[in-house]
Formats: sequence, structure tokens, C-alpha cells
Amino acid sequence: MAKVVVVGGGTSGFAAAIAAARAGADVTLLEQSSYLGGTMTGGLVPGIVSLRHQPWRDQETLVEMETSHAGDQVVQGIAQEMIDRLIDAGGAYGIPGQATIRVSFDPEIMKVVIDKMCREAGVAVEYHTKVTAVLRENGRVVGVKANFGDEIVADHVIDTTGDGHVAWLAGARYEQGEKGDPTYVQPISMYFLMGGVALDKTIDYACSGREDFSEGYLRKLRKLYEEGKPLTIPGLPRLREVAAQAGDYPGAFGSTTLNPRAHNNILRPIFRNGRVVYDITMHNVDMAYRVDATDNKTLSEAIGSMRDFTLKIGEFYRKYVPGYENAYVLQIADNIGIRETRRVVGAYMLTGEDVLEARSFPDSIGYCGATVDVHNIDGSESTRMTAIRGGRLYQIPYRILVPEAIDGLLVAGRCVSADRVACGSIRQQAGCIVTGQAAGVAAALATDQGVEARHLPIGLLQQALKDQGAQL
Ligand SMILES: Cc1cc2nc3c(=O)[nH]c(=O)nc-3n(C[C@H](O)[C@H](O)[C@H](O)COP(=O)(O)OP(=O)(O)OC[C@H]3O[C@@H](n4cnc5c(N)ncnc54)[C@H](O)[C@@H]3O)c2cc1C
Repeated sequence: MAKVVVVGGGTSGFAAAIAAARAGADVTLLEQSSYLGGTMTGGLVPGIVSLRHQPWRDQETLVEMETSHAGDQVVQGIAQEMIDRLIDAGGAYGIPGQATIRVSFDPEIMKVVIDKMCREAGVAVEYHTKVTAVLRENGRVVGVKANFGDEIVADHVIDTTGDGHVAWLAGARYEQGEKGDPTYVQPISMYFLMGGVALDKTIDYACSGREDFSEGYLRKLRKLYEEGKPLTIPGLPRLREVAAQAGDYPGAFGSTTLNPRAHNNILRPIFRNGRVVYDITMHNVDMAYRVDATDNKTLSEAIGSMRDFTLKIGEFYRKYVPGYENAYVLQIADNIGIRETRRVVGAYMLTGEDVLEARSFPDSIGYCGATVDVHNIDGSESTRMTAIRGGRLYQIPYRILVPEAIDGLLVAGRCVSADRVACGSIRQQAGCIVTGQAAGVAAALATDQGVEARHLPIGLLQQALKDQGAQL
């Protein structure tokens, strides 16, 4: 029986583990924290995109992303199964079998659902286990070492750490940033929640004509609120500007050019236990710029600053935003929201052109429909998002999971082989789950076939993925 070790039980890792176990492998999933889901759960980023074409995020499409079924859905498999299980448990908004463009979910229920899915598949989940080294024989990865001093031998190791940590330990080639500068990366955010919100007043303010919202947006916003549905408010740029003029809008770590009016500062009511909760909002705010998140010292400095920044943004809301007069910072995410670090160089590197032109590949392992979402490097301008042309979705080639020169190792999630632009799309949650599922099946199958993963006949992998319900 194939022995597969998956390192990192986050967005891609839980799917890799389940897929490998269902393909017949003996699977151990090592996770350094005490829950699964990574950025999805501990990062408080509860909105899965890329199962459908994600349109350009203008106000009118942004507001209804969590309720709209527009466009064809072409991601199924473990991603849709997880969403259906969540809906059943009151943990996601929507109709079983049909994902919305962005699926809103409850991160606490998610932790339980994916842990159960792993155990039902026969995966041995080991929490509080951090991988610190790899075992190699003749250059091939044959296992890992963890913090307890354990050595865990495997036929294949899958790196789903987000940061490509295992690939780095194994000496794999990777890229980070641009032009040799590892700090030329997207900003970091720590999602946070504010409680005690009177959102009806915020919506009244948004509709008062004092912000630059289109009539179409406001009509949809009001309707979603009245129907008790999920909605999005793209921050309140005019209030941010007024606060900045009065010296009440905080500066962010690493940016001297932050433009409060353009600053990413989105808010949404949360989804909990089967309903939208309007008196608690979650906030996606860019907080630290030009940080190499693989460097612990800089990252730690940024984390301290980001927590302080969060409280200051909370003060801005209390002082300036109608409906937040009595609100408070309820929770700051445990997992730091890192958008971009190592991109492990694989047998093929997915390019921005591949994504935007919705290209097909003979070694396709599934689809992704996410916009290219590369946040502004220094906060001086609004983030420009680019949708895939023609409302289509691109295929994900298997080769981006296979490190170019190291056997015994596969990668999945946001550290796959992609240039910066393509990474801005494939890093979205459903893209990570699709790559995770494919890596899991490939690891199990390659061992059964007695071949290295790079030599796995693609037809076999594609058939096995279809057998697991994936759409190719
Ligand atoms: C602020 C922000 C907002 C976003 N918004 C959205 C959105 O709205 N919709 C969307 O679809 N996507 C969004 N994304 C993107 C998406 O959430 C992430 O790219 C994706 O979740 C990353 O998945 P992953 O599996 O690569 O890593 P993660 O989910 O981060 O999982 C990595 C796991 O590995 C573990 N780990 C790391 N190192 C080790 C080790 N050495 N040993 C053991 N365990 C280890 C970690 O603890 C973690 O559990 C957002 C991302 C950010 C940062």
C-alpha cells in the first residue's frame, strides 16, 4: 500500500489527504496548528471562489458574488462535496450541488466538517506537528522529520504548507517576488471581526449619496439586506478620506504611500450556523507591505504592527462609520493572511497569459475561474483585478504540481509553479482544493504504478480524478 505524507492541513492539504486515502494510500496528514483549514478557517477567510468564472469586481458584481450562480460551474469533486457537507451542517450559504461565485461559510463548522471528512476517508490526522526537515535518499525525498523528533517515511510527500516550506527544505528551486526581490509581493492582511454593529445604519449611510456607489449597487445592497442574504460593502472611501485628513486613518506597516481612499478595506456581515449575522462584520484590510513572510524576524515585526493597526482601524470605524458607534474588535485571525511567498518551480510554470486567455492543457487536472487578484504593492492605488477573458475558465496543468528536479515530492495550494500573475488567480481557495485533490491522487497512483510522479501516465490520473467526482 502506498504511504503518503501530506504536510499542512490547510485549504489544499485536507483535500490532498482525502484524495490520496480514497485512491488507496495509507495517509498521514501533519498540521502544525490544532485545526484544519489553514487560511480558510484560522485565517477567517470564509469565502470560496473559483468554482465558477469570477467576474471583474466592480461594485455591482461584488455585492452579489455570494448569492449569484451566474456562469457555468466547472469545479466539482472534493470542493463541492465539502460545500454540500457544510450546507447540510448549516455551515455554508447556498443550495447543495450549486456553488455561488463566492461561497460564504462558517469557519468553525468548516473545521469540524473537514476533520470528519479526513477521518471518514481513513486519514491519520496529527495536529501540533510541524515538519522541520526532509529525509532524502540519493536526492529523492523519502519522508520528513517533525518537531517531536519523529521521522516519518513515505513513498511520496505532498507539500501543502502554503509557503512551499517542505520544497524549500528539500532544496527545490523556487521564485518569490519579482526581479530577485523577495519583498516584491502582495500585502499581508489579518482578517478581523467587529461585533456590536448596527448594519442597517451603515447601509442607510451607503445609500445616502455621500459615497460613490452606483444606483445599481445600492439597489442590490438594500435588497440583499432586506432578504437576509450575504452582501459586501467595499469599504467607505469618502469616510476614509475624511478620517485621513483629520489624522485619524492609520498608516500601514511598510508603506509610506498608503492612499486611504484607495486602501483595500472591505466589510461583510458573517455567516454563522445557518444564517447571515448582520451585527458582526468581517474585515479584509491590507495591513503590511513589502514583507518577506518566509523571514520570521520581519514577519514577527509586521504581526505586532498589524494587531495594533487592527485596533486603530476599529477606532476609525467607531468614530466615523454610522452603525459602528458601539462596535468593538471581536476577534483577530490566528493565521496571518499571507497572499504570496514561494512559488516552487515545476515541470511547467503557469503564466498570467495562460490564465487570462483561459488556456487548455493536455495534462489538465481541473479548472479554475478566479480573477487575477494581485493587490497593489504599496497601497498607493486601488487593487486592479482582471477577470479571465470571455467569461471562461482555464485548465490547470498537472506539471505545476511536480517540482522540476526533485522526486518523491509534489506541491499543491498557493505554492504551485506559477508566475506572479497566475498565482494571483490559482491561489484562490477552490483552485487550491483542486490542486490538492490532484496531488493526493497522483501520489497514491504513482506509487501503485511503481513510477515517479513526473512519469505518471496522465490518462490514468485523469480517469482516477473523474472516478473521484472531479470535473475535467
Ligand atoms: C487576506 C486574504 C484574503 C483572501 N481572500 C480569499 C477569498 O475571498 N476567496 C478565496 O477563495 N481565496 C481567498 N484568499 C486565498 C486563499 O484563502 C489562500 O490562498 C488559500 O487558502 C491557501 O491555501 P493553502 O492550502 O496553499 O495554504 P493554507 O490554507 O494557508 O494552509 C497551509 C497549512 O500548512 C500548515 N503548515 C505550514 N507549514 C507547516 C509545517 N512546516 N508543518 C506542518 N504544517 C505546516 C499551516 O498551519 C496551514 O494549516 C485570500 C487569502 C488571503 C491571505
